[in-house]
Amino acid sequence: MMVGVLKETVPGERRVAMVPQALPSLVSKGFEVCVEAGAGAAAGFPDEEYSARGARVAASREEVIQASDVIVRVRADAAGLRAGQAVIGFFDPLSEPQRAREFASAGVSAFAMELMPRITRAQSMDALSSMATVAGYKAVILAAHSLPRLFPMLMTAAGTIAPAHVFIVGIGVAGLQAIATARRLGAVVSAYDVRPAVKEQVESLGAKFVELPLEAGEAEDRGGYARAMDEDFYRRQRELMTRVVAENDVVITTAAVPGKKAPVLVTGEMVKGMRPGSVLVDLAIERGGNCEITVPGEVVERHAVTLVGLLNLPSTAPYHASQMYARNVASFLLHIAGRGSIDFAADDEILRETLVAHEGRVVHARVKELLGEA
Ligand code: NAD
Repeated sequence: MMVGVLKETVPGERRVAMVPQALPSLVSKGFEVCVEAGAGAAAGFPDEEYSARGARVAASREEVIQASDVIVRVRADAAGLRAGQAVIGFFDPLSEPQRAREFASAGVSAFAMELMPRITRAQSMDALSSMATVAGYKAVILAAHSLPRLFPMLMTAAGTIAPAHVFIVGIGVAGLQAIATARRLGAVVSAYDVRPAVKEQVESLGAKFVELPLEAGEAEDRGGYARAMDEDFYRRQRELMTRVVAENDVVITTAAVPGKKAPVLVTGEMVKGMRPGSVLVDLAIERGGNCEITVPGEVVERHAVTLVGLLNLPSTAPYHASQMYARNVASFLLHIAGRGSIDFAADDEILRETLVAHEGRVVHARVKELLGEA
């Protein structure tokens, strides 16, 4: 089976879907790999490293597409693909279901990495967790960069420097990594999530769990994700968080509900209440944002507070983001095609949950529903 690795085409995207270090796991199982020249360059992986690990480097994109049974991408699209081919990548079919139709019309079998089930068996293929890890880390680094204060407590001959106070809202994979990173930099960290189960994890990382007197009820679904709450709940949450937000130098928000717009948890008024020079990093910006006034793709100053709304943070650490993503993709490939071809008829949750388009049709139940095809 020939795996094709294409250069990413979304402007500013520096990641690559396969890295040289992940090739031996595929090549040793009989896969062949063909890489578009320059595909890994922006992530720090030169063509020679792919060749040295058993891949063929092809000069043109068309050549890779022609040769390949399955194309691996970070941000997948149907452009130039041929019928009967499979493609693996992110394409956010729950937010942009019409993308699934594009793959279907091209006759391409499309697997969405976003839809990987969060089950133990699929942990090594969980690319959302990998990217959230990078984003959580990067959010803290960006905050530290913008903050006019230092993070750690320092006792120096010039006096004592008080540590920065960091508040993190939404403690999934990104939030946990943000806590760990902020703690390593010496900040005093507190955190909140609607899922009460998170409290223990927060405390085990040396942060304080902020108790808000909110009746969250059944805040967690069976998949471990947060449920959507009603607007009354979010209003009360904003009221209760106002003081906490004002007391901290840095606020990092990552709150999300799968398939929904991110809840607004920080209003413009709440930002106004923060001390001058404070920083808010809105990691939910790609889902509409947790802060009412962050600007997608930009770093802006409002009420003397720096608001970071940068998009695609994983792409700002492309070397390791690609390394993690490539391992996820390689595991997935070995899982669905380890015997030399993809068995589309297999009774397998991982294949069923991720396959969105096949044989000219959208085949994923939730995506079909969103398209009104169910
Ligand atoms: P996510 O990106 O969907 O959401 C981020 C966090 O925001 C979640 O923790 C969520 O509870 C929280 N949130 C939602 N609404 C909120 C609100 N109003 N206020 C505060 N917080 C709010 O989450 P994720 O990082 O993808 O992970 C979600 C869960 O899945 C976690 O329990 C995680 O441990 C679990 N998980 C399991 C596996 C696995 O078993 N293979 C893999 C990855 C993640």
